[in-house]
Amino acid sequence: MDHFLYRGGVLHAEDVAIPEIAAAVGTPFYVYSAATLTRHFRLFDEALEGTDHLVCFAIKSNSNLAVLKLLGNLGAGMDVVSGGEYRRAKAAGVPGERIVFSGVGKTREEIALALTGGIRQFNVESEPELRAISEIATALGVTAPIALRVNPDVDAKTHEKIATGKSENKFGIPIAKARAVYAEAAKLPGICVVGVDVHIGSQLTELAPFEAAFTKVRELTLALREDGHDIRRLDLGGGLGIPYTRSNDAPPLPTDYGAMIKRVLGDLGCEIEIEPGRLISGNAGVMVSSVIYLKEGEGRNFLILDAAMNDLVRPSMYGAHHDIVPVIEAQPGTEPAPFDVVGPVCETGDTFAKGREITPLSPGDLVAFRSAGAYGAVMASEYNSRPLIPEVLVEGDHFAVIRQRPSFEEMLGRDSIPVWL
Ligand SMILES: *Cc1c(COP(=O)(O)O)cnc(C)c1O
Repeated sequence: MDHFLYRGGVLHAEDVAIPEIAAAVGTPFYVYSAATLTRHFRLFDEALEGTDHLVCFAIKSNSNLAVLKLLGNLGAGMDVVSGGEYRRAKAAGVPGERIVFSGVGKTREEIALALTGGIRQFNVESEPELRAISEIATALGVTAPIALRVNPDVDAKTHEKIATGKSENKFGIPIAKARAVYAEAAKLPGICVVGVDVHIGSQLTELAPFEAAFTKVRELTLALREDGHDIRRLDLGGGLGIPYTRSNDAPPLPTDYGAMIKRVLGDLGCEIEIEPGRLISGNAGVMVSSVIYLKEGEGRNFLILDAAMNDLVRPSMYGAHHDIVPVIEAQPGTEPAPFDVVGPVCETGDTFAKGREITPLSPGDLVAFRSAGAYGAVMASEYNSRPLIPEVLVEGDHFAVIRQRPSFEEMLGRDSIPVWL
């Protein structure tokens, strides 16, 4: 459930009419609902009630400081995958004890940054990384809490670009090798083994692959304890999918996910961490765009919008579906017709949808892309010299711009022309 509903035929974000925001900030823009973010965070928090746990928001899905501040205020931890994301978590007021650091290519600078600023744990993805953390921690005179990210070799049954838990993927340490690497970790100076980490992919729509992975984590935990390691924390990653259409089968709910976690791992006495991104932020945001032209092609009609693939890349990058709805509801009786919905970027890939049934629109009309709060703004670029679009946060009957649209001067001002030209 989200808080983007029609009232009197006009799409609202909570109690604010979308056209009111469009008039204030111009299109295109992203708008997020504070109530939806809060609700989704709480769903996870409540799903793990009764076990010691921390819900760490995966910043890579939506890294706006206001979003991080809102979730941090609710008690969320943060899962970061770069020094930049670490800095964002800190800037939003989240303490180091609530930040976990994931990612296959942490640089020495990033490791030092986290060790200096405070970190809950590094999720370590290789032996060279483990040795680097040991060296840096020793040099700084501190101890680095670590979990090894194990690759359980399960098929997450999701899009190939976001499946991470098969042995052919670049992620984690093969689970069969894990005991040997834990033994090495225990001997290294500056390292404190605290747990096991796993993350098998994103936009999973079934619980079975999670359960298969968590069962392997359970077996590994028991084996590691036999080997003498103090495994007290299990980080189970993120990846629970969201419904991108109103019609298709709904993915499992956080409640069922939490119940399965407790059933499979509840008796181990471990603290549970999860790292949801998409399920917290995805349906908490929409992207709003205006129609520029209607163009009749041969055998197809195009709806040309002022938003493009650089603003929301998921359709062209993953073939992803976003529901596209008119902000002003169509009059009853108006028939939808098929349109190719496209942006102005000079690439055929700049297509949001093909043959999508949409009720007739005119230039200047607003449309909203649903489920755009995750992997939307964070993946935007300035391709075709289109400035990054603004982000807006709504809470009840008021809204604030949480990232401004840069001016063309600011965009051009980042380049410099060498003196010899
Ligand atoms: C991407 C990622 C997540 C979040 O995945 P979602 O599908 O957005 O829940 C969590 N943990 C790690 C390590 C990731 O790479």
